[in-house]
Formats: sequence, C-alpha cells, structure tokens
Amino acid sequence: MTGVRTRFAPSPTGLLHVGHAYAAITAYNVAKQRGGEFILRIENIDHLRCDDEAIEQIYQDLSWLGLTWREPVRVQSEHMSDYDQALQKLEAMDVLYPCFCSRKDIKEEIARAAHAPHGPEGPLYPGTCRALSREEKRRLLKQNVEYAMRLDLEKSLSLINQDELFWRDIHHNQIFAQPHQLGDVVIARKDIGTSYHLSVVVDDALQNITHVTRGEELEFATHIHCVLQKLLGLPVPIYHHHQLITDQDGQKFSKRDQSETLASYRNRGVCPHHIYELIGLSPKN
Ligand code: GLU
Repeated sequence: MTGVRTRFAPSPTGLLHVGHAYAAITAYNVAKQRGGEFILRIENIDHLRCDDEAIEQIYQDLSWLGLTWREPVRVQSEHMSDYDQALQKLEAMDVLYPCFCSRKDIKEEIARAAHAPHGPEGPLYPGTCRALSREEKRRLLKQNVEYAMRLDLEKSLSLINQDELFWRDIHHNQIFAQPHQLGDVVIARKDIGTSYHLSVVVDDALQNITHVTRGEELEFATHIHCVLQKLLGLPVPIYHHHQLITDQDGQKFSKRDQSETLASYRNRGVCPHHIYELIGLSPKN
C-alpha cells in the first residue's frame, strides 16, 4: 500500500444508476493505479431521505460491478457525535451564527434586494441573521424558534492565510478556492444538526482520504470544503472532479428513468461487462 486512499460516498436516497457506476469505478481505479486502497462510505445524515434498503442495494450493486472495499463501512448516521465535535470547534472559533430564517423569509429578502448575488446553487443567503443583535438572538432562542448554523464567511476568511487557500487537482495544478460564490453556507441544518459540507470534510480527514474523486457537479462545494479544512486544521486532499457521463442523446444517466438503475440491469440478468462498455471503464486490479 502506498498510503493513497480514495472513497465512493453515495447517499442512499434511491437506487444507483449508471452514472454512479462511473463514479465508483473512477474512485476505485484512482486508488488501484497508485497501489492504494478504495473505501466505501454511506452518507446518510439526512434520515428523512435515506433508507436502509437503499444501503443494502448499494452493497449489492457495487459487488456485482466487481468492486471490493474494506469492512466495516463507515455509515455516517452512526457517527453524528464526530460532526458535532467539529461544529463545536467552529462555534468556539466564533465563525458560526444561528440563522432563524425560513425558506420563505430568505426568498422574500432576496426579492427585496435589487441585485441579489447568485452562486452555483442559486441566490446566496442575504446575511439577514448575521446582523441580528445579541438581544434579538436571545429573544428568538427563548421562543424556541428553530435555527440552522451558518458559516460567517468573511470572519472565517479573516482567520485563514489566503495564500494557503487552495487544493491540488490530480494533475498537480493548484486551484485557489473562491468561496464567495457560495456565501454563508449552512453548516448545521435545522433538522439534522450537521450538513453535507461539514460531515464530508470531517470524514475525509478521519478516514485519511488522500484523493477525493467526485462528479464535476460537486466542484462548487470544494471551494467551501477547503475553507472548513483550514479552519479545522485538517489536511486538504487532492481533488479529482470527473465529468458526468451521458448517453448517446447527451442526457445524463442520473436523469433517466428508473429502468436504468444498476439493480434493474442486474435483475434482467445483464452482465456487468455491459455497464463497463456503456461507461467506457472497468475496475483495475
Ligand atoms: N454523498 C454525495 C452524493 O451522493 C457525494 C459526496 C462526495 O463525493 O463528496 O452526492
């Protein structure tokens, strides 16, 4: 082993499709081509959208594709205290603030603003709750109004050496993070007390992931992950944001109907080689 470690980290919100096969095999091959290790992580912090049956299907689909991984698999819902610890660390640094806004409040506030800045995920949070007075905050807390915790981006950046705010891609290029395109993101959701951004950064560090491979649709998130890694004193892995494969009509596999899931191919008796041909990749050993 070379110390290289990659992961495939699906969220069990439904069945895996051909696009997931491409992502999983890409991660697998980046590890194997470097004499490294591939691991699987189940990202199921969102208990309303994830279910155990989907987890079981993920194991079956990946085994069918010929992938192997080290047991036990880390299942995020079993490690909520790790995310809570990281949250507390950020709170102690005073880079978070409670946000009491509902989706409707945010929409209305944005509509009022003449030039609301937009990011890759839509309009940025207008910062309403960042400006709340201490008394106002106390009053809302006392009334038990539910709140999320948001990152105060400006404050965070003031604590980080900007010359170090970059990651390297798989070709050794240095990519400087541009977190302003995301603004004050939610670090702990109202309903689950953590977020994708926080838990993925904590887990990639805890599991010593050296190369994070994921689809290019998630590249935007790396800009904020880099900020969190710097704040929490975590190593910044190498990132490889791979293309999303499309069918002959140029449509993403994730958008096609359910008959295209790996489980449906499996159940129809299709051989995994057919999937390798579709995606132009097969697992290396
Ligand atoms: N769990 C995320 C998803 O299924 C992927 C996380 C990642 O690769 O960083 O979209």
